[in-house]
Amino acid sequence: MTSCLFCRIAAGTLPARIVHEDDRSVAFADINPKAPVHVLVIPRDHVATLNEPADEALLGHLIAVAVRVARDAGVDGSGYRLVVNTNGDAGQSVFHVHVHVLGGRPFGWPPG
Ligand code: 5GP
Ligand code: ZN
Repeated sequence: MTSCLFCRIAAGTLPARIVHEDDRSVAFADINPKAPVHVLVIPRDHVATLNEPADEALLGHLIAVAVRVARDAGVDGSGYRLVVNTNGDAGQSVFHVHVHVLGGRPFGWPPG
């Protein structure tokens, strides 16, 4: 989908600071970071939200990549949060599934 920002990042036609990529996923720095570590992990294939039917192995892969990103960023021991916002109440703004990897500071709970 050329109209989708994250499809364009996955295709390499929109620049991003990529920290990991493989055949199924791409991880890149968030353009407006909410924490010292803020990386987005996306599937290469366009999936709008978690409500779409998706390959469970792919979803597991995205989590595994997110954990690797947290470890590579050095926040695995201090702590990090994985977030997948879905639709309006959660504040999803880009409709291509992405796992936020947030770390490098303490986070409140419950989320605002
Ligand atoms: P959402 O609100 O959908 O959960 O998260 C979307 C995230 O994408 C936001 O944190 C936002 O800063 C980030 N974002 C939006 N546009 C771009 C972009 O063009 N490049 C990058 N790297 N991040 C983006
Ligand atoms: Zn897309």
